[in-house]
Amino acid sequence: MKIIDLRSDTVTRPTPAMRRVMAAAEVGDDVYGDDPTVNRLEATAADRLGFEAALFTCSGTQANLLSIMTHCARGEEYIVGQQAHTYKYEGGGAAVLGSIQPQPLDLEADGTLDLKRVARAIKPDDFHFARTRLLCLENTQGGKVLPPDYLQKAGEFARERKLRLHLDGARIFNAAVKLGMDVQELTAPFDSVSVCLSKGLGAPVGSLVCGDREFIKEARRWRKVCGGGMRQAGILAAAGLHALAHHIDRLADDHDNAGRLARGLQKFEALQVDPATVQTNMVFAGIEADLCQKLADDLQAEGILISPGNPLRLVTHLDVNRRDIGRVLKAVGAFFHRQT
Ligand SMILES: *Cc1c(COP(=O)(O)O)cnc(C)c1O
Repeated sequence: MKIIDLRSDTVTRPTPAMRRVMAAAEVGDDVYGDDPTVNRLEATAADRLGFEAALFTCSGTQANLLSIMTHCARGEEYIVGQQAHTYKYEGGGAAVLGSIQPQPLDLEADGTLDLKRVARAIKPDDFHFARTRLLCLENTQGGKVLPPDYLQKAGEFARERKLRLHLDGARIFNAAVKLGMDVQELTAPFDSVSVCLSKGLGAPVGSLVCGDREFIKEARRWRKVCGGGMRQAGILAAAGLHALAHHIDRLADDHDNAGRLARGLQKFEALQVDPATVQTNMVFAGIEADLCQKLADDLQAEGILISPGNPLRLVTHLDVNRRDIGRVLKAVGAFFHRQT
């Protein structure tokens, strides 16, 4: 029985074609700058996202950490969403390792940060305060696509207020595919952008950070300091190149499957699901706490993995197809039938 894993899009396994290019990858020592496949991945990503340069990192967390450490010095701060990955889900790395203070603000319902509130959070030049240096946004944010005109406004705002602007673009290709736009239209306002290869794009390991040459040179230094200099990393970079070449357009299938899943789940009274809010590859479903654990246990017995939680977060990806969605809906239906 095929296991259907809806816990995250990080669970994808490299495809046979991806494994073949990994096995055949030309490699060298990347700390010496000698790995041709890493160099090709970095050049390809920079070109694709519209930046001068890019840096291959072992994770998205590391890509964001290096970006924040490059933009901000000790005693400076970044403004970030209260629910953003770069604040809530990265172990406080910027504070722990960079002596950089986060200033979290609640996100709006559409995943944006209200720029008027951001303006009020910028500290005056006074030695009582940390120096506000950077604004971090996330796209997609909890599966939501930030409006492109908001990104433009955020860019203008950052320039006016002399802030740097970083995008946690772990799933930026999901946003671009959803909007049917060139990803560069979404990345242009930013000084730096991180992107995950190891989520819906299906690579086993790796992220990238993009920026201008000077920025990437400095980020490369911090990567070494943080222990992230890898050697024959071309084996991993080959997977990333394959992902960029073959796994972007198909993200539309994941969005389609998420919509299909949401519409199917909406029919169950015990679940609160609004298919209209499903924009990309994530479905959120409100559910009672004890029912939730029971559902997770029951589905596991059927070879379907979900993370219990309220709301439940179900994520579609490369290893989940339309038929699998049918199997999930059937299993959920059988579960609720047994409850009555
Ligand atoms: C997954 C993720 C990251 C980084 O994840 P890693 O697991 O460290 O690769 C960063 N931001 C967002 C929004 C993410 O979803």
